[in-house]
Amino acid sequence: MTVNHTDDSDVCRRCSLQGPTCCRIVAGQEEFCFPLSKVEKERIQEHVPYTGGFVLEPNSKAFVDNICRLFPGEEDLIRELFPEGKEHFRLAVDTMGTCRFLGPGGCEIVQEMRPYYCRLFPFWMAGTDVIHFDSPTCLARREGRTLVRILKCLDSNKATIKDLYGRLRLIWGLPPRKGACHVKKGF
Ligand code: SF4
Ligand code: SF4
Repeated sequence: MTVNHTDDSDVCRRCSLQGPTCCRIVAGQEEFCFPLSKVEKERIQEHVPYTGGFVLEPNSKAFVDNICRLFPGEEDLIRELFPEGKEHFRLAVDTMGTCRFLGPGGCEIVQEMRPYYCRLFPFWMAGTDVIHFDSPTCLARREGRTLVRILKCLDSNKATIKDLYGRLRLIWGLPPRKGACHVKKGF
C-alpha cells in the first residue's frame, strides 16, 4: 500500500519517504504477517512473475490468536481454517522486514492484484461498521485523524471497504458475513 506507484495515493507516497509504512514489519515478527490465500497468491504470480515472494509459515498459536482477534466471535472457524500443525502462505520479507514486492517505486503489484489485506489497510470492519487500526506508522491515520478524513486521504470510501472486506472473508475461507453460510475452506 505504498509509495510512488501511479495508482497509489499521495499520502502513501509521502508516508514511504518518512518511515516504515504498512509494507514493512518489525524484523522477528514475521509470524504475525497476514495470511495469503491460494487465489491471492496465484493472482500475484500471474501478474508479477517473481520467485521468492512467498513463504510457508506454520500456524503458530500466536498467529492464530492474532487472526482470532480480527474476527471476534468467529474463533472456532478461524481455528478450523488454520489448524495447528499446518501451514499458510504469507508474503516474504527481507531481513529488515520489508515486503519483497516493495520496489524503489513502490509496490510492484498493481492495486487490483494486491492481497485484500493490503488494499484494506488501515481499515477493517467491526460488525457493519468501517473502522481503522490505530497504526502509529500510518501517515494517513496521523494526518486524517477521523475515519471520514482517513478514507478521503486514501481516496477510498465506506462502500469500497465493505466490498473489499467481504471479498477478503470469502477468499480467506470465511462466510461473506459473520454467521452466514460457510462457503469455502482452506488455504
Ligand atoms: S504486496 Fe505491495 S502493498 Fe502489500 S505489503 Fe507488499 S509491497 Fe506492500
Ligand atoms: S501506512 Fe498508511 S499512509 Fe503509509 S503507505 Fe500504508 S496505508 Fe499509506
